[in-house]
Amino acid sequence: MKITHLNIVFFLLLLSLSNTAFAVSEITMNKVERPQSSILFIIDGLGSSYYYPEFSPTALDGSSLIKPRMQNLSFGARIADIRTGHPVTGIAHSMIMTGFSDANEETVGYPGATIFDITREHGFVNLAVMQTGDFINMRNKQDIILFAQNNSVDNPLISIQAEKAPAGIYDVMYEWKMKLPTYLDNMKGVKKYSAFNKWGIDSANAVASEMIKKHPSQRFLLTMNIGEVDSGGHNMGDDDYVKIIEALDADLYPIYKMALDNNIALFVTADHGMSFATLNARRGGHSSDKYSTKLESVRIPFLILSPNTVTGVIGGEYQQEDIAPTLLGVLDLPPNLQYADGNAINVKKYASIFVRSDPKYQVSLWNNGQKVSDGSDSELIFSGLPLNSSYTLKATGDGLNFEEKVSLDSDKQFNFIKSENRSGIGNRGLIAIILILIVNIAGLIIIRRIKD
Ligand SMILES: [Zn+2]
Repeated sequence: MKITHLNIVFFLLLLSLSNTAFAVSEITMNKVERPQSSILFIIDGLGSSYYYPEFSPTALDGSSLIKPRMQNLSFGARIADIRTGHPVTGIAHSMIMTGFSDANEETVGYPGATIFDITREHGFVNLAVMQTGDFINMRNKQDIILFAQNNSVDNPLISIQAEKAPAGIYDVMYEWKMKLPTYLDNMKGVKKYSAFNKWGIDSANAVASEMIKKHPSQRFLLTMNIGEVDSGGHNMGDDDYVKIIEALDADLYPIYKMALDNNIALFVTADHGMSFATLNARRGGHSSDKYSTKLESVRIPFLILSPNTVTGVIGGEYQQEDIAPTLLGVLDLPPNLQYADGNAINVKKYASIFVRSDPKYQVSLWNNGQKVSDGSDSELIFSGLPLNSSYTLKATGDGLNFEEKVSLDSDKQFNFIKSENRSGIGNRGLIAIILILIVNIAGLIIIRRIKD
């Protein structure tokens, strides 16, 4: 609670201080095939151990488990080894949303903490269709969200929360909320769990399709979660878990095709996996001590389909907190996530340089002694630069004389905003800066205590 209060104070102080509008200059150096919008598709409880060709799932007692037959869920760039440090639904979703390895549901509520804050700052709308993995701080960062209030396939309670939804989207969500009984009536067992998943996918597909049709120039981030792979793993056996994954593989094809046909980046991942004590165990788990360190619980899939990303298997070891900066990088948005400690995975076909600056500085980009671009703004994004090339970045004005050679093995980020503003601070400004420092130091101490 203390941190929340401190952050509100901090945020209000920042608001009172900032009297210049935030403006972004995007400078595209070469023709790039950047995605228009994006879908973050989280499959609750889908362990990559169960379907990646590299892995063979085992139970706690060492016995081999069966794998589903899959056709669709292996497109684009596939990150072979990526794990969650906390195989717990709320925490893992918070890590995906913030890029922070110690995130929880409270962190998601902080200003500037999430991918939703960055997308909003850059003119996107945030839409969501969530069966599980949503919580109040997450819902409050959406322009509109269709969500299940409970986690029950037998008695699902569906709600809509709208802030400032694009025209027509509330109606689509309401229509899909009302369609749920037609999916679930007279179903039971694996078929019912799969039908609920299919309803979630079809609803999200309808929302994205409506955006493309009615608001073609409006960029969006659609976050979706389907919950029944996880529920099936918990409530039924490993054999039923695998059957639900197989049904999901078939049912997700339409949204994959919609993304492919409409220049939408599709990111598919999971919050955590699932473990079983034995073959034919009637119950699985992932977060209790018994299961939480098993590879089957911590290994998650991560697939990226986007016109500006590479195709094929990406080697190396990655963590769940790398997903948020990777997603922002693919959208050519700067990874300015307030608490993130994850790093973008190199999947893009080109590099971008993100510069935070004071508009009074002149920022320029040079190649072989020639100036190739320049500008002055709160934020400059130089995108479409060839990978493994070298540029010199300069920033000059008001006593600043910065120059650095940049080797572009990946996206790069620079910040030319000084922590103290030397010109013309009034007494109010000075007091605010001192207060911000005090609040930040107090916040850090409290955060450290909580971590300890
Ligand atoms: Zn979960």
